[in-house]
Amino acid sequence: MSDTGELRYPPLHASSPFELRGEWTQSIPEADVRKALATGEMGFLHSFTTGSTLDGPGVRVVAWTMGCQFRCLYCHNPDTWNLNKGIPVTLKRATEQLRKYRHGLATMGGGLTVSGGEPLMQDRFVVKLLAAARTMGVHTTLDTNGSLGYRLSDEELAAIDLVLLDIKCWDPQGHRNLTGMELDPVLEFARRLASRNRPVWLRYVLVPGLTDNSHDIAQLARFAAELRNVERVDILPFHQLGRFKWKELRLNYALEEVQPPTPEIIQMAREHFRAQGLKAY
Ligand code: SF4
Repeated sequence: MSDTGELRYPPLHASSPFELRGEWTQSIPEADVRKALATGEMGFLHSFTTGSTLDGPGVRVVAWTMGCQFRCLYCHNPDTWNLNKGIPVTLKRATEQLRKYRHGLATMGGGLTVSGGEPLMQDRFVVKLLAAARTMGVHTTLDTNGSLGYRLSDEELAAIDLVLLDIKCWDPQGHRNLTGMELDPVLEFARRLASRNRPVWLRYVLVPGLTDNSHDIAQLARFAAELRNVERVDILPFHQLGRFKWKELRLNYALEEVQPPTPEIIQMAREHFRAQGLKAY
């Protein structure tokens, strides 16, 4: 806080033409975090990327939020887990940043994606940012692990054009082992999105020995097909690109010896979804 009681935040700067990254590294007072979470007038971001083609349709701006309640063994962004280590960005400022790109995003069939971390850890900020994007005609996407979906009202859900829903594991105990959290709330959110007819792209990280059980994938594929709102499925092969972050953060990385899935295993997973009539990539 400044002497005048206003929150100070560091400048965002472009470390490359496609990235705006902040330099905020110190913790923010808890009272400020609580106030921001309650009002949604300020969010805590890891970074703000432009030019993404991996996080929804077209070319997108991605706001990477801080904070996640999952602890996925394969997480490649463990540096986003702690919300209060993020860059504080006011809603007004985030909206102004987005406004600069709105015409380009429309031309490239893109929009805004809010990802993380888990964006719904900051649900009020995310709802307001997505609403602001929609008001300026920008397509909106929420990338979520789904377990905090109950925080969104039906009206708020209706204002999100697309949900990228991660289902981490079909087996409940496997889900617990992998993420530290329960599977049921995720499935409940998936059913609710279906009942509200909201478009979903399902994402599934394929990890040898953890999420490559053929029977479980077949069951998940059947569940996804029955929802009738899943427009596509992305099988994301496990990789080791995030390993260095675990080391830098001095976290115990359990997947040191795990190899990426073979092309045959990836094909097996895709075929289960295709067999249910879904588009799988
Ligand atoms: S939900 Fe995403 S950000 Fe959270 S721990 Fe899992 S992979 Fe990491």
